Amino acid sequence: MKAMIVTYGCQMNEYDTHLVQSQLVSFGADIVDSVDVADFVLLNTCAIRGKPVEKVRSLLGDLRKIRARRPLVIGMMGCLAQLEEGQQMARKFGVDILLGPGSLLDIGKALESNERFWGLAFRDELHDHVPPAPAGQLQAHLTIMRGCDHHCTYCIVPTTRGPQVSRHPDDILRELDSLLVAGVQEVTLLGQNVNAYGVDQGARVGGYPSFANLLRLVGRSGVRRVKFTTSHPMNFTEDVAAAMAETPAICEYVHLPVQSGSSRVLRRMAREYTREDYLRHVADIRKHLPHAVLATDIIVGFPGETEEDFQETLSLYDEVGFDSAYMFAYSPRPGTPSYRHFDDLPREVKTERLERLIARQKEWSARKNAAKVGTIQELLLRGEAHDSGFLEGHTRGNHPTVVPKAVGVTGPGVHLARIEHATPHMMYATLVDSAGNALPELPKLNPEAAALTAPLAMA
Ligand code: SAM
Ligand code: SF4
Repeated sequence: MKAMIVTYGCQMNEYDTHLVQSQLVSFGADIVDSVDVADFVLLNTCAIRGKPVEKVRSLLGDLRKIRARRPLVIGMMGCLAQLEEGQQMARKFGVDILLGPGSLLDIGKALESNERFWGLAFRDELHDHVPPAPAGQLQAHLTIMRGCDHHCTYCIVPTTRGPQVSRHPDDILRELDSLLVAGVQEVTLLGQNVNAYGVDQGARVGGYPSFANLLRLVGRSGVRRVKFTTSHPMNFTEDVAAAMAETPAICEYVHLPVQSGSSRVLRRMAREYTREDYLRHVADIRKHLPHAVLATDIIVGFPGETEEDFQETLSLYDEVGFDSAYMFAYSPRPGTPSYRHFDDLPREVKTERLERLIARQKEWSARKNAAKVGTIQELLLRGEAHDSGFLEGHTRGNHPTVVPKAVGVTGPGVHLARIEHATPHMMYATLVDSAGNALPELPKLNPEAAALTAPLAMA
């Protein structure tokens, strides 16, 4: 079987794609990256906003057309699969396999079945399942919990991914070990609300560490860099900032979604913290990590958001001085409390506020990134950049960065670099040694020599 998974949405979906992909490989499937050669196409869907849902609808339409011409198994997994909205779509487009986020390990049963297979249960075995480490990658995700116990009024995730279940620390450390053995250098711990890690297990015998202590454990494992996402301000404790400061492997990068700078809007969103609470968390982070890189998520145009509320979001942005932000116009999602109870603002109002917020973000990102010019940063280089002769990677603070290759550094790895130039979205750097001296540039091949060596390199 030639199988292809198309992934929409967040890092949790990327992790789940890897999990299902490795199951498919264990059943003998070849993973391909073109629909033209696939005989099984599985869409890993996102339901957080209307746009990704529409993308899935359109791709399902295309797949149905392909199936009219040749045999093709069509599958759908992820958040949209768990919703009535997605299931209606699946019926309309003749989806053969549908797996909700809690039923991913049913993929084998689904492929064996001769009939349409729909798996929508939240199965316990997913939590202790350790997928094989991704081959040849320096970077990997590690899910530490699934689901969410919050009920933000705009959000569909608690419906699609179910209640929070923290994975046992032994399973997390077992998975981490396998990543280390495979050569992974940077691990991102994933969950909808990582700061609430263990809270769902209460006083269970055997004990789950707090998130801060889990960070300490993971940080001592020998992994070079650890990041985590997403943090919810309500569960953020100063001990997390302390654990970050005292554990060198934990990167000084905090993604702490604020959603709005107005306490009135935060209350209507049921976020369970105020603007002042959020600013206190930022102060705690800066106390322990004065150079922390801060990123956030913001929703503009939440129902009932006034111009004054929006101004509070802009002023909070200035007060914190975020390094970067993921910004969204509110998207009403059927099944959420805000969809049921509140009226959506006109699209033009949301778009115009989003544009103003993006302009503010660009100003701050430009300022913050410019302050890094001249500093030495540790880069995780993933491989070739768009332009040949360059490598792309990111800093401990998640800044996308490009460097020219140098003698001895022509592929993936972790290296030091001096930032030479910065834009709001990209840093440009030079590779340096541990004393800060630039590494020698690669010798330039003359065009004739290049023409001679090219066929040899391909042979
Ligand atoms: N659990 C994380 C938290 O609470 O911070 C966020 C998870 S959610 C997958 C990622 C982001 O999508 C949220 O932080 C929020 O900004 C955005 N989002 C969620 N629902 C949305 C909606 N209905 N409209 C627009 N943006 C939304
Ligand atoms: Fe959604 Fe709120 Fe849970 Fe995040 S914390 S996943 S925004 S309900």
